[in-house]
Amino acid sequence: MDQGRIAIIGGGISGLCSAVALQKKGICAEVYEKAKDFSGSDTGIVLSGNAIRSFYIMGLGGQMIANGVTADQCLVKSHSGEIIANFDYHSPSHIPNYLFIQRSVLVKILTEAILPGTLHFDKELIDFKQISQTIKLHFKDGSTADAEYLIGSDGTNSPIRKKLIPESKLTLSGSVCWRGFIDNPPISEIPYTETWGPRGRFGITPMPGNRLYWYAFKKSNSCKTNMSNWTPIDLLFNFFYYHDPIQLILENTPPENIIFDELSVLQPLEHFYSGNILLVGDSAHASMPNIGQGASQAIEEAAYLSKWISTEDSIEKAFEKYELDRFTRIKLVNNETKVYGLAANVDFPILCSIRNKLLQLAPARYHNEKLRKVVEINDEI
Ligand SMILES: Cc1cc2nc3c(=O)[nH]c(=O)nc-3n(C[C@H](O)[C@H](O)[C@H](O)COP(=O)(O)OP(=O)(O)OC[C@H]3O[C@@H](n4cnc5c(N)ncnc54)[C@H](O)[C@@H]3O)c2cc1C
Repeated sequence: MDQGRIAIIGGGISGLCSAVALQKKGICAEVYEKAKDFSGSDTGIVLSGNAIRSFYIMGLGGQMIANGVTADQCLVKSHSGEIIANFDYHSPSHIPNYLFIQRSVLVKILTEAILPGTLHFDKELIDFKQISQTIKLHFKDGSTADAEYLIGSDGTNSPIRKKLIPESKLTLSGSVCWRGFIDNPPISEIPYTETWGPRGRFGITPMPGNRLYWYAFKKSNSCKTNMSNWTPIDLLFNFFYYHDPIQLILENTPPENIIFDELSVLQPLEHFYSGNILLVGDSAHASMPNIGQGASQAIEEAAYLSKWISTEDSIEKAFEKYELDRFTRIKLVNNETKVYGLAANVDFPILCSIRNKLLQLAPARYHNEKLRKVVEINDEI
């Protein structure tokens, strides 16, 4: 394998995981992040078995599990509280199916795992130029850096992708999401549940430290108001006839603990790399975060990327192998999560009833097989 310095642009989950995984294999990688630090609004995240397994490969599995809550089961309920499906997958490797963790905690663990001096804040990439074998990086503060390879982990709106593949198309998904958390919630038992109803999807998860995390997805075209301005009262009104304890949760969430997002999706790219530049994470394949598979994919691909960079003859060959493998994998995961999203987002009451009946009739092995395909990854990374 040829060695060269790798510059990773973006210190989100994807960039941090790529740095940890590459540095663990002795590869010289540095991260440049535009933010001044990682403070800012916090929320929870649901990661799947494939992400947990990838963390074990990076040597961080135990720490992640110790700082989160794990479960194998997700109960899906109708808006009236009737159980319509039980996603209860048990991996033969005994890796839990879900990990619930606060994003700030996840980022802190990753940041601490990176070699000192290799994470640079306040470095917004504004341009890059290929000069022979070297890529010259230009930052907003006027500074520059050189690297032999560039990894674009700069998120959904990736400036690197826009320069590399100007024809790439990012579109609004038609869904919005609120995420919130409550400390010392007025509920003792918090199993992982998702409620699917005509007014949107509501997920509830446990979190460490007697914290509860919730998320609510809603189709943005199903309502004529601007939902970015919704207050907790608007959310209460929207979910007013959903089963307990959804009302109680919304009533008890401090408004400052709620964040709103409009979700975008990237139309599939024809390539993830060009020469010595590679796109990873949301910059390569931003999609709807169903079954905890947005960040989980980014974490998984960091483990694969480091494997191939350390085993292939050259980093270019590793990028090529990465692209081939990830195309197949991302396609499979996107197909599965799309079906899940379509089923979860049905909003006509009559269609909801039909969907609920069909889900109740489906044998557990049907759900298990779908989950298995998404969460199981090759152990030989
Ligand atoms: C509402 C919502 C809920 C979600 N829930 C889940 C979930 O429960 N489970 C799950 O697995 N996934 C979930 N996801 C998806 C998940 O958040 C993303 O897939 C994941 O965070 C992508 O990480 P990333 O590092 O690729 O991108 P990002 O997290 O966007 O990170 C990109 C980084 O690049 C930096 N950057 C951008 N431009 C530049 C530049 N020019 N120079 C330097 N730095 C730059 C940014 O500041 C940022 O830190 C959710 C997403 C949303 C929107």
